[in-house]
Amino acid sequence: MLVYYSPIFKKHTPPFRHPEAPDRLDHLLEGAREAGAEIKEPVMREDVWHIIESIHDKSYVELVRRLCREGHAEIDGDTYISSGTCDAAALAVSAIINAVERKETALIAARPPGHHAGVAGRALSAPSQGFCIFNTAAIGALYGEEGVAVLDIDVHHGNGTQEILYDRDLLYISTHQHPLTLYPGTGYPEEVGEGKGEGYNINIPLPPHTGDDVYIKVIDEIITSVLRQYNPRLVIISLGWDAHKEDPLADMKLSLKSYLYVFETVLRLQKPVIFLLEGGYNREVIRRGTKALIRLADAGEFAPGESQTSTDVHTLEKFEEIIKEVKSYVGRYWRL
Ligand SMILES: [Zn+2]
Repeated sequence: MLVYYSPIFKKHTPPFRHPEAPDRLDHLLEGAREAGAEIKEPVMREDVWHIIESIHDKSYVELVRRLCREGHAEIDGDTYISSGTCDAAALAVSAIINAVERKETALIAARPPGHHAGVAGRALSAPSQGFCIFNTAAIGALYGEEGVAVLDIDVHHGNGTQEILYDRDLLYISTHQHPLTLYPGTGYPEEVGEGKGEGYNINIPLPPHTGDDVYIKVIDEIITSVLRQYNPRLVIISLGWDAHKEDPLADMKLSLKSYLYVFETVLRLQKPVIFLLEGGYNREVIRRGTKALIRLADAGEFAPGESQTSTDVHTLEKFEEIIKEVKSYVGRYWRL
């Protein structure tokens, strides 16, 4: 599997200790090299700023560019900008467009992440931009136009992606820790999309401490059948490793088995799949996960290297209640 990487992605640097830091990519690359992946530099597109401004408000893009010129700044309490942020974010957008155009399965090892970035920066009712600058996944999806699906498995709801795609008939599915218990506070089942996008926005909130047994059930009972019916031409996976049980920022209990199970489900569609790095803050999980992903994509090897986790009875009760609601909304638009 091709891995798009450039040292420019490391030029987005925090002014103080921050979980979303350049060394995340060193661990990703280590995993990619161990798996024998081909690493390729993305090409910066000349029209990249024009493309970014076709999705984000011009005034927001101008603000970001001004803050890049000025050097270190905080856009909010969570999200920083440095002098290298604009080059990194623009190259991330270029990379996803390179991959969409090549129609080839690839991993984009880019940062800053993007799925919390809405049209004007902060999306929906979120208190911050959650480390994100431009919405790389949504820009890639809209550039690919018809038949693109975005599957967001980051532990946080992709509120920015939802906001941008909400009235489009492009499929957006997000699994995330329940909004009552985690930033950004959106991602309820009743948020189904509007206009011609109605039915194309699918939120699957999961209670804290959800394990592999339950997550795999969600994939089998909802995600697989919706994806088959939608029959995407290309799939973008917003890949956050932060739903892993060892992530320091969230409370889910997934092992790499759940991750590989999703990857395998999507790869089985036999369509190009673009894996785009979003969150995930345990460096060791990033390394091992990346290695396992590439081995799966290249050699069909299903090797999570971790035993399956299970969900406790209390969490399971909460899950049953939530999933009933999810199915009632999804079932209005898709056969389950
Ligand atoms: Zn996240």
